[in-house]
Amino acid sequence: GEVLLDVKELVQYFPIRRGVLQKVVGYVHAVDGISFDIKRGETLGLVGESGCGKTTTGRSILQLYKPTSGQVIFDGMNLVELNGKKMREERKKIQMIFQDPYASLNPRMTVEEIVGEPLKIHKIVENSEIRNKVKELLELVRLNPAYIDRYPHEFSGGQRQRIGVARALALNPELIVCDEPISALDVSVQAQIVNMLEELQSEMNLTYLFIAHDLSVVKHISDRVAVMYLGVIMEMTSRDELYSNPLHPYTIALLSAVPIPDPEKEINRKRIILEGDVPSPVDPPSGCRFRTRCPLAQEICAKERPEFREVKPGHFVACHLVREITPGVFRAEI
Ligand code: SF4
Repeated sequence: GEVLLDVKELVQYFPIRRGVLQKVVGYVHAVDGISFDIKRGETLGLVGESGCGKTTTGRSILQLYKPTSGQVIFDGMNLVELNGKKMREERKKIQMIFQDPYASLNPRMTVEEIVGEPLKIHKIVENSEIRNKVKELLELVRLNPAYIDRYPHEFSGGQRQRIGVARALALNPELIVCDEPISALDVSVQAQIVNMLEELQSEMNLTYLFIAHDLSVVKHISDRVAVMYLGVIMEMTSRDELYSNPLHPYTIALLSAVPIPDPEKEINRKRIILEGDVPSPVDPPSGCRFRTRCPLAQEICAKERPEFREVKPGHFVACHLVREITPGVFRAEI
């Protein structure tokens, strides 16, 4: 398929300022040189523990932050270089759904005002038409249009997330950054929201970047998955390949925490139990970012940052030790 979003060597550092003079004393290395693309109509899952830079990545794509360096090419245009009217035009095509639907909805606004706001700001329809358009959007997210004059507190968590989705859909976007959209919801509601997002995707030909903190959440919805650790993508491949043949020690560690129902497979699979904490992104480890927690770490891992290599068609890994053992078989070999 056609590439809709192409992120190249994206770096996002945030200065840490101290004292009355607000002198810069260091940098948070939130995102440190990541590259990936998303094809039109595809869902890329972006997974990692908190503080790995996944939310920052989403926000940088939306240009909520000015990237320190790198390119965010959307529909053939580098958003980092656009400004003014052209920027606003392109930015409209990328929307975000937030983790906490309650915090992201203004409690003093009615559903009509919340969902209608982007229509008003961007003058998409005549003011007299907004109410009708909002009703259509509510139907699209399977909410009763009769709720149009209600306030956020009158809804359940799942319904509030539907309002957030309706608002994101108001401008007819092409790409939606879904930032942990179900992690604040009850387990019983999570599947409903995921199913709705999938249905909307095929109805409206939407492309998703789906951010989550664990691999079980994105398994169902993703076509491909990227695993992030301390600002770097460690592994990226198709969903089926990632879950059946993970190559990066960090991915294997994350998957070790996900139970497999089949006891036979459970015995045979490679397991890595994660120990220790994620180091600070202010002073990340040299070489491989994962080395302080990696049971396979070697001398080279402290010296050189592993290249993000395509070891098999479409399967990218950043680890010094992953190599072809016998033709077609890749593994981390010590
Ligand atoms: Fe572990 Fe070294 Fe591979 Fe990093 S590069 S994941 S430290 S083996």
